[in-house]
Amino acid sequence: MKNISVLGITGSIGHSTLKVLDNYKKDFNLISISTHSNVKNLLKLIDIYKPEFAVVSDRASMFDYFGEYEKNYNNIKIYSGEDGLYKICSDRRNNIIVNAISGKSGLIPSYNILTNGIDLALANKESIVCAGPILKEIAKKNGCNIIPIDSEHSAIFHLLRNRDKNEIEKIYLTASGGPFFRIEKKEWHKITVKEALNHPTWKMGNKISIDSATMANKGLEVIEAERLFDISYDKINVLIHPQSLIHSMIEIIDGEIYAQIGPNDMAIPIQNALFYPEIRYNSFNRFNFNRIVTLEIFPVDLKKFRMLDFAFYCGKKSGVYPAFYNFINEISVNLFLNEKIKFTHIEEIMEESLENFEKEDFLNKNILTMENIKITEDLANNICEKLYDKFKK
Ligand code: NDP
Ligand code: MG
Repeated sequence: MKNISVLGITGSIGHSTLKVLDNYKKDFNLISISTHSNVKNLLKLIDIYKPEFAVVSDRASMFDYFGEYEKNYNNIKIYSGEDGLYKICSDRRNNIIVNAISGKSGLIPSYNILTNGIDLALANKESIVCAGPILKEIAKKNGCNIIPIDSEHSAIFHLLRNRDKNEIEKIYLTASGGPFFRIEKKEWHKITVKEALNHPTWKMGNKISIDSATMANKGLEVIEAERLFDISYDKINVLIHPQSLIHSMIEIIDGEIYAQIGPNDMAIPIQNALFYPEIRYNSFNRFNFNRIVTLEIFPVDLKKFRMLDFAFYCGKKSGVYPAFYNFINEISVNLFLNEKIKFTHIEEIMEESLENFEKEDFLNKNILTMENIKITEDLANNICEKLYDKFKK
């Protein structure tokens, strides 16, 4: 039996993780869980799953609900704030921890999990984008694993198993193209938050849904792939595949291409991460070939999906550029979700922010350290604040 904890249990990946745990009750002992602010949902999950302790990472939400920052609820202790998250990440009884927090807030937890020598089942791509080489180094030093949950990376991770790295010619990351793949760019200025959240094939959290609509999500995934698989950017290709059934592909040196095809269900990559290196039977919905299945593939237009183009640029620049890309994207996505800027401003803010960032003396030494990531975050905030007046609706 593996001891497990889940960060971000109240989100979409958290929900799919529970689907896996429900199916393998004898294999996992759930030690702790966290939400940011959804206390009501957390209490329901505590009643059902009875972890040893739980965390509300937003202290204000904890205080609003209970009038205190720590609480005993049905004999289960609830902590709050970053200290609470640290209690989970440093609890070495865990064999594996799922990081399903959305956005940059997942970075420090990923760092702490690996620093404590615990296997990391990683949904939070933002942390590997910001600090990939640092996290990998810590994992190596402490003898623990980073196992991807992101469906494309899970696919490639499994396609690469038992394969000599020298046999790999290319990898293909597939992308649905999001809700606006077939909408002409000149119409994009009218896009509303509701339209952008309406992803054609996956039901996901708000941030990743907007990232999918701009294809910044694929941009983050390109960087995630370079970091996880040590593969250079010129060997990473993105293809639009609107049905999202091919989760990704590898091309090997003899020209053969191997694809991973399966149902659109995040529970499968999560299951494989939790049991890694074992593969287990499951009773989830299966792919059905008793009907006509259309698999379309299109090349990607980087002039239309500029956020993907910027990601390749920042990835190749390396150092703190990927972190900068991530921070600027996250700030503009929040502004868009709060209806402060237009959808098309997301890429415009990225372009102008990058121009401003490149004038900073700080970039003369483009060195990746945790401290420089923090400086980069502060610079991203300052740069965006100055640009905000120009872009606000
Ligand atoms: P959701 O928004 O659905 O859930 C996010 C979870 O993180 C919630 O539990 C949320 O708590 C918590 N959270 C939010 N902000 C913070 C914070 N500042 N500190 C600590 N916890 C926080 O996101 P998803 O489940 O969709 O995505 C999670 C991660 O997985 C992302 O990095 C995403 O890119 C990645 N991913 C998601 C996929 C999907 O299918 N959804 C597919 C592949 C990757 P609360 O409920 O209180 O807000
Ligand atoms: Mg993905």
